[in-house]
Amino acid sequence: MGRHRLCFGLRLALEAVFLTLTLSGFAGFVSPHSAQLRGRRHMEVARHAGPDGDDKTVLILGGGIIGVSISYHLAQRGVKSTIVDRAGIASCASGKAGGFLARNWNAGTPTDELSQKSFDMHEETAKELSLSSYRRLKCQSVAVDGTGAKPAGAKLKNLELCDAMWSYSEQHGSNFVKGTVENLCYEDGDSERHIRGVVVDGQKMASDVVILSMGPWGEVLQQAVPACSMLGVKYHSVLMRSGRVLNEAVFFSGLGDPEVYPRNDGNHYVTGFPDPPQVVKEIPGEVEVREEMCSRLIKTMQQVSSEMAEAEVTTKQSCYLPFTRDSVPCMGKVPKHENVFVATGHGCWGILLSLASGKAMSELILDGEATSVSLEPFDPKRFG
Ligand SMILES: Cc1cc2nc3c(=O)[nH]c(=O)nc-3n(C[C@H](O)[C@H](O)[C@H](O)COP(=O)(O)OP(=O)(O)OC[C@H]3O[C@@H](n4cnc5c(N)ncnc54)[C@H](O)[C@@H]3O)c2cc1C
Repeated sequence: MGRHRLCFGLRLALEAVFLTLTLSGFAGFVSPHSAQLRGRRHMEVARHAGPDGDDKTVLILGGGIIGVSISYHLAQRGVKSTIVDRAGIASCASGKAGGFLARNWNAGTPTDELSQKSFDMHEETAKELSLSSYRRLKCQSVAVDGTGAKPAGAKLKNLELCDAMWSYSEQHGSNFVKGTVENLCYEDGDSERHIRGVVVDGQKMASDVVILSMGPWGEVLQQAVPACSMLGVKYHSVLMRSGRVLNEAVFFSGLGDPEVYPRNDGNHYVTGFPDPPQVVKEIPGEVEVREEMCSRLIKTMQQVSSEMAEAEVTTKQSCYLPFTRDSVPCMGKVPKHENVFVATGHGCWGILLSLASGKAMSELILDGEATSVSLEPFDPKRFG
């Protein structure tokens, strides 16, 4: 099955890249610089009354689906947050992913419980937020050596989910700051390191709690957890519109392993042909779309499906899957820090895992412990 093999193949490739980086003394990468895409800019930090009656501020660095889900679940508990993002809410992988969800495809892996919990939450959340794009799908694998069926999955438009969660959070007092996070600011002289805030486009923003959720961009995270280096796997994707609403996701093998997810608006999301894992140097919001990769996806689809032969291409895009060095998400309290949390590295299942991840992170931040699902397998302690 494409996604299983994809993840296993990527894991081997990631291990090889991390080994090469370690041997070559890898120590970071180029900072992102300014650009304007989705989102507004104003530098206020949302405040809420803490249990002691003091004003508290929560800064979420990165407005992908993971940061937005944390903000949403905090808002459900009455806590406002400020999201800082260089390119806007859901402007990178979270707005450009396939939006395919499966309950049991991570069985036997560290994300099994998280996947099951999150899959169930998607159905509930789709109802709560009135998401029109959520629906159940059948799945099929098409291989040179035969055809096999997979248990059914589900599909939604990830952008619709992100926008709906963010609207809820904004309506409950959260706000957005558009800018590039450059540095973490520390209080001097603590044994347990305490972050006072961050530097955004050269200006300091103070904060009581900081959450690092910048997907594959790992430079700022490495200031807090030096051994947690991140990699990205670049994918291109196209939307092809045939007008017919189909009900089956198809995973090809032997043809560059393209994957096709039909949407309920007559568009079909097609992705495949990943670049090798790499330290991401492209700037968020300015990731290059290579025409030859899009043409490859389109031609392959035209070859394998009569449905796609006449389809109109409506979108060409690219983005990065975020990976840690062991391909397991990194989520929890940052070691040796008092008030810093991290949530990243969700690989090819970040849309699926977003809801249970955001809820568990909100519990950890507010109650000191995640109770809805265990975050133990993802503890950043493993990076020292
Ligand atoms: C082609 C493709 C298809 C996919 N399909 C699926 C699918 O079908 N199902 C599924 O479950 N998952 C899928 N995924 C995976 C999923 O999209 C990701 O795991 C998920 O979006 C990661 O979310 P994130 O919030 O961690 O990162 P991102 O979405 O990358 O968000 C990180 C954010 O941080 C911001 N940022 C980074 N550095 C800075 C900085 N210094 N200052 C300010 N802002 C910064 C960026 O602008 C960005 O908005 C797919 C991914 C790809 C690439």
